[in-house]
Amino acid sequence: MSHIAADLAAVRARMDDAARAAGRDPAAITLVAVSKTHPAEAVRAALGAGQLVFGENRVQEAKAKFPELKAEFPELELHLIGPLQSNKVRDAVALFDVIESIDRPKLARSLADEIARAGRHPRILLQVNTGREPQKAGIDPDQADALVTVCREQYHLRVEGLMCIPPAEGDPAPHFKLLAEIAARNGLAVVSMGMSGDFETAIGHGATHVRVGSAIFGTRDYAATTS
Ligand SMILES: *Cc1c(COP(=O)(O)O)cnc(C)c1O
Repeated sequence: MSHIAADLAAVRARMDDAARAAGRDPAAITLVAVSKTHPAEAVRAALGAGQLVFGENRVQEAKAKFPELKAEFPELELHLIGPLQSNKVRDAVALFDVIESIDRPKLARSLADEIARAGRHPRILLQVNTGREPQKAGIDPDQADALVTVCREQYHLRVEGLMCIPPAEGDPAPHFKLLAEIAARNGLAVVSMGMSGDFETAIGHGATHVRVGSAIFGTRDYAATTS
């Protein structure tokens, strides 16, 4: 755990450099520290170094780890960055401050129903499958505008932005560019893109949020938890 503060500082410094290189204000970019598969003590170490925004990709894992931390650190902001099943919507609305992975009308509807029922309003991003990968979550880029409209007009959801995970292989830049374009033409301010391997490129293409895990917390043990 002792490396976390230093690695966090290094990531923040690289983010600031990338922002300046792109002529952007470093303060306009939020670091989401992705703590999936890492224990609560790792999150605590990051909190101790001033990090308040965290991302988890599984509702169950976050539910086991974060309620206690959120009680202790009321300013902690938790993002859901992984796929959401309809039967987990209730838990997700109760726990997360931002849900980044809405990708279909039916899920938007469940979310709207639960928000109305619970009276809790997590901020919402739509996930776009920019690489049109069949195994990956996210709305097809050609259907993204329509999903934004359905969320807004039919379900009265306040969509704030978009998220993408480019294909693991190849240049991520065209994917970042595409996501930023879709966000801009829909008047969406938040663009969540860029991970440990490519967050500087994402910042160059307008990311407002980068989601960085392994560069902060170290490698993940996938034998223990799957992504
Ligand atoms: C795991 C994950 C990340 C962080 O990935 P790293 O390469 O460890 O930085 C970012 N976004 C999503 C959606 C993830 O599942």
